[in-house]
Amino acid sequence: MATTETTTIVVSDLFDVRQTQWGGRACFASKDIPENTTVLQTESAFGATVLYEFRKEVCAYCFHYEYGKYCKFKVPTPENGVKLTRKFQGAGLWFCSQGCLDRWTQFDPNNELTLTYESMLQNFQMKLKESHEKEDNNVEISKEIIGKEWVSISEWDDKISKMKKTKRLNQLPVLNEEEYASARFVALVLYNLHTHHKSSELFEHLQSNELEKITRFPVLLKSQTLVYKFLRLSLPEYLQPLLTIGSLRLIFGREYGNAFGIRQITDESSSEEKEFLGYMLSPEASYFNHSCRPNLKKTRDGNMMTFTTIKDVEKGEQLCIDYFQISEEPFEYRQKTLNENWFFQCACDRCCEERAMDSA
Ligand SMILES: [Zn+2]
Ligand SMILES: [Zn+2]
Repeated sequence: MATTETTTIVVSDLFDVRQTQWGGRACFASKDIPENTTVLQTESAFGATVLYEFRKEVCAYCFHYEYGKYCKFKVPTPENGVKLTRKFQGAGLWFCSQGCLDRWTQFDPNNELTLTYESMLQNFQMKLKESHEKEDNNVEISKEIIGKEWVSISEWDDKISKMKKTKRLNQLPVLNEEEYASARFVALVLYNLHTHHKSSELFEHLQSNELEKITRFPVLLKSQTLVYKFLRLSLPEYLQPLLTIGSLRLIFGREYGNAFGIRQITDESSSEEKEFLGYMLSPEASYFNHSCRPNLKKTRDGNMMTFTTIKDVEKGEQLCIDYFQISEEPFEYRQKTLNENWFFQCACDRCCEERAMDSA
């Protein structure tokens, strides 16, 4: 899951991130690590978004969710001299506690991100009643087709840069709920780049899976261009220089295959289906490869993820997680799921053994 240049990436003193012979990067234990050791705890998410349908039920800071109960805390109207054309609506941010609201305020001390989200919310809702164009999902995708689509967007960019501000808003696209959620994901990444979040450099090292993902889901190409237009017309001045066609394509390309789902946390004994509430990206956690016989488990605590060994690991062994909680599933199912969602043929120890047994 990484690029090809040979820069050393330092994530932890318990493991090295190294280029592998089979391509991509992997994490190898740099010493013997006993079972039950935390090998990584991530920083606050570099990119994250809560799905629109859960916006009132999931805490915008810690992603706490309690079976459909509404969060009670909202951001107060910012008073730092910003003129809002419309009444402040809370930026689409709800918090589970005063503590989470306080932590949000620390994270966004000048309300820059809050006002970014507010502007996006108002623009999104303004268009909500208009119908969304149905897109053809069966188009052929190639590098050239993706390139061409973006050339037309760059022409649109030139065109609107010459327009008066009031006229520009007529160009605001209608987004569906998923597109709006992904626009918020991009806005958070841009904000974190703007404030030099600790993980910025690691983010730059992540591989883009743009072509693989769009080939699989052609509708995403149109969605990305709509999100681009929406952000161009909604982001405040301070983020505008960070939004370029190149940066947006890289953010999406890196999100694909590297983001983790934010799932409802239930107690271990519960057999209940966990709600999919949104998704988050922490670059430092993106170098663990998948194995159907993992030696790490991932747990989420608020907006951070913790990776812990579930068996003794010897120095030099690769550290792996089970991306999809599929280690209970049979070979064929695992191969199919991993290929469709993460774009690779699993060649972990277990898959190799099972494949060999099958052909024996
Ligand atoms: Zn919370
Ligand atoms: Zn496997």
